[in-house]
Amino acid sequence: MFKVDNIIRKNISRLTPYSSAREEFKGDASVWLDANESPFETELNRYPDPYQIELKKEIASIKGTNVNQIFIGNGSDEAIDLLFRAFCEPGQDKSYIFPPTYGMYEVSANINNVETVRINLTKDFQLPESSRLNSIVDSKGLLFICSPNNPTGNMFSLRSVKEIASSFLGLVVVDEAYIDFSNSKSATCLLNEIPNLVVLQTMSKAYGLAGLRLGMAFANKEIIAVLNKIKPPYNVNSLSQAEGLKELKNLENVIDKINQIKSERTVLIESLSKIKSVQKIYPSEANFLLVEFKDSDKIFTTLRLRGIIIRNRTSEIKNCLRITVGSRKQNKILINAIKEI
Ligand code: PMP
Repeated sequence: MFKVDNIIRKNISRLTPYSSAREEFKGDASVWLDANESPFETELNRYPDPYQIELKKEIASIKGTNVNQIFIGNGSDEAIDLLFRAFCEPGQDKSYIFPPTYGMYEVSANINNVETVRINLTKDFQLPESSRLNSIVDSKGLLFICSPNNPTGNMFSLRSVKEIASSFLGLVVVDEAYIDFSNSKSATCLLNEIPNLVVLQTMSKAYGLAGLRLGMAFANKEIIAVLNKIKPPYNVNSLSQAEGLKELKNLENVIDKINQIKSERTVLIESLSKIKSVQKIYPSEANFLLVEFKDSDKIFTTLRLRGIIIRNRTSEIKNCLRITVGSRKQNKILINAIKEI
């Protein structure tokens, strides 16, 4: 049976966490002299809520989870790093990724002195067949499934997530940074069923708040408690908490933005498919398209010279560029420039 005690790093298990002033006294008071803050009241002279409770309550009601199943990080990149620090013994446990995928998993692994096992996706970017997953069976550490996957844009079924999680002894991290642009269900619906599941989401993409740095990890409450134990005491600043809450209370606005991006994605696919140098447009459930060009390097550098910046993925996927879906106007500028090249 899965137990957090079996996978947590020994030093983290033994750790006595820092206890911040805001943790030691909660409640109403009139004179706050416990945290060495400045007494000159502005909106920012006090430390923020270390556990972002108001924000979590709103997220819990939107996502259908409990507050104690949510961790909020300074971007989901912070959650990725904390997962390594908490659940991978350096030089011993491994992380497992399915390239081509988001680059931070391996970088975070390297920072934490954790070896990465790369098991490539199939040619059409599906998860490897079970015969190629021998190395994960009964292994500990972290296994990342990015769905929708960056940079390929496709999603993986919840059935395969379940299958993989049942043979892996460590944590299966499903990174859903782009889930809001897809029509498929989030893996958060599996949280009560799969004890070794962590689902990452972010407000950087569909919510349009990349500058705020608000990332979420959903998992069972024991895993969340470990992340809370090791996070920097005030990891999410007051402005981010307030602005994030405002946006969550204004969901219609977010849904409207998501719908616009999805319809622009369709328009962009149509326009690109009429261009001769475009060889293939991969199906996408995200706010970007992976596009294969006859001469991708030329397209990439010429666009850059014209001040149009896209992402070159040719080192990972031959002749492929990743293009973020922009506004109608931006997409038109891009399409016209590619046509001219
Ligand atoms: N996961 C994926 C798949 C991403 O593409 C990104 C950002 N590019 C992140 C996580 C990090 O997001 P955040 O801004 O929340 O740190």
